[in-house]
Parts: sequence; C-alpha cells; structure tokens
Amino acid sequence: MNRISCFDKGRELYNCGRYKGAVEWFLKGLMVEHCNVCRAWLGNCYEFGLGVEKDLVLAKDLYETSRVHLLTSEIDGMLGKWIDERLVVLKGMDGSVSRMMEEVGNVKVMKLVNIDSTPQWRYNNDEVVVLVSSRESLLEGFCYAERDLPEKNREWNCDGSNRFCDGYVVEADYYRLEVRRGDAERYSMRMTDRELCVWFPKRACLEYLYVQETILKKVKELLWKRAQEVIPPVLERVAQRIGVEYGECHVVKSLRNCAAYNYALNHDITFSSSCVQLPVESLEALCVHELTHNFVLEHGRRFDDKMKELGGEEMLELYRNLWNEGRWAYMVY
Ligand SMILES: [Zn+2]
Repeated sequence: MNRISCFDKGRELYNCGRYKGAVEWFLKGLMVEHCNVCRAWLGNCYEFGLGVEKDLVLAKDLYETSRVHLLTSEIDGMLGKWIDERLVVLKGMDGSVSRMMEEVGNVKVMKLVNIDSTPQWRYNNDEVVVLVSSRESLLEGFCYAERDLPEKNREWNCDGSNRFCDGYVVEADYYRLEVRRGDAERYSMRMTDRELCVWFPKRACLEYLYVQETILKKVKELLWKRAQEVIPPVLERVAQRIGVEYGECHVVKSLRNCAAYNYALNHDITFSSSCVQLPVESLEALCVHELTHNFVLEHGRRFDDKMKELGGEEMLELYRNLWNEGRWAYMVY
C-alpha cells in the first residue's frame, strides 16, 4: 500500500463523517509511511475533536511538526497556507501532554532538540517519559509508547524472573533487603546495620514499569551505601592478611555487573557496588584477585600462580566461581 492510498483512505472516511476510521488511516499513514500530510490532517482531527478527544496542544504540535517537514516549494502551497492559518488560531497552545495508558500507567511525551535515537525512555517516580526528536510530533511519542511500553512492561524484571512485590526480601551476607508498601504518598528508604528497607507509596501500582524502576533506583542507592561501608574494610583486612599494599579503595554506584579494577599507576582499587551482593568468602577472593594485579597485570598462568601464592588454591577456586554466584544475578538486566 503506498502513501497516497493511506491518506486517501482516511480522507474518504473523513469526507463521509466517519472520523474514527479516518484517524486510524491517518495514523497508519504517519507511523508506517511517514506521510506528512496525514500529520497535518491529524492536527485537524485533534483541533476539532473529530474521531478523537479534542486536544489543542496535540493539534498545534501536529501542525507545527508538519510544517517542519514541508519542502520550501510547499510552504506557499495550499497545505502550507492552511497550516499557517491554523497555527495563528492555535497560538499559545503549548505545554506537555500526558495520558493514562492501560497496563503502563501515566505516560508523558516531551521533545528533545538534540537526540541521537528516538524514542528514548525515562522513568520518573510517577510516569514514563517518552522523548522524541523535534521533527516528530508528540502524538508520535504516544504511538511509540503504545507500541513499545506494554512489551517493556511485561519484560521488566529485577532477578531474571520476577518483579518487586510487597514483601520482597533478599537475605545476603552483608545485608537484608526488604521492599514493602508504606502508608505514605512517597517513596522512602531506611538503612540500619544490615537492614535495607525501601517503602513504596501506598497507592503505587506495582504493575507499572516506572514503579518497578523507581524501586530499583532506591535499592541501588541503598546497596551502594552499604557497599561503601562493607567493601573497604574487607579489602583492608585481606590486604593485611596476605601482606600486600594498595592505594585507595573506591566504590562506584553500579549494579549492572560485578566488577573491580586495580589502577596500575597507584594501585587504587575500585569496586562496583554490586560486589556487596557477594558472600564473604567470594568478596575476599575478589580482593585477593585485585591485589594480585599489583604484581601481574594480565590474566593467565602467571597471574594464577601469583594469586595462589598469595591467597591459596581455595581463593583462586572461589574467584573462578564468582561469576556463577546466583545472588547478584537479580540485579543484572
Ligand atoms: Zn583481573
């Protein structure tokens, strides 16, 4: 089906007053065929509430975006003149647009001038934000949301299989994490000894991606704080035990993967905060591994021999099994 027929189909329905059907064809023309005329006609439907709920902000934006796509020769043509007329009428109709979408909750669309790829997604406490380029209309942002969000929402997971629920608990060597519903309107966190708690708002819907993402953000924050308390003393203890010196110990906020790094120039050692999820012995093995880098830069036979010399066979074995540790997998996504 070519561009003409999508628009023509829509216009045919429009002319007989079957606006709902017309909007469907215009949308298809816009999203599938990138038809700019459809964009302008959709603006008309939103301006007068034909087949859709009237929305002047969306309407103005559709006309405006359509105008951006006009060729110089078209600006003085019928379409260009009509668009300019409508833009005068709709002057000042600017603002952001939000919609409540089934399955995914509040969705807000915003435009970004310098954007590498579109659409982009951001998760606020109470909404998903869809960012589109300034050459796309806000309506296109909603179309992306309709197309992609339900799938993202279904796929979201925090441990490879499930989501945070009311009463989500992880017991690990260095902390006990609990996520539950609070009785306030806001998110809150608490950290005592090894207890990490995240409370989500009493009305938050756990089905929504942005709620899950927000909880994850808080969990990351808490685990990072805990990691800063836990990891430096472990490194210090291990270094003393095996008699190796190092520079400073840093912990960076990252739960994407479990990693540590020994900076060759000054032997500063940096850990990602995800390492706090390891059991005691495994974290020690990781420390021995990093300290071994003081003597051998590259991994290999020579490295393994040195690590064995410093920490013993058991540490080497533990380090090899590090990546099989199940307890941190729940954060990797
Ligand atoms: Zn290494």
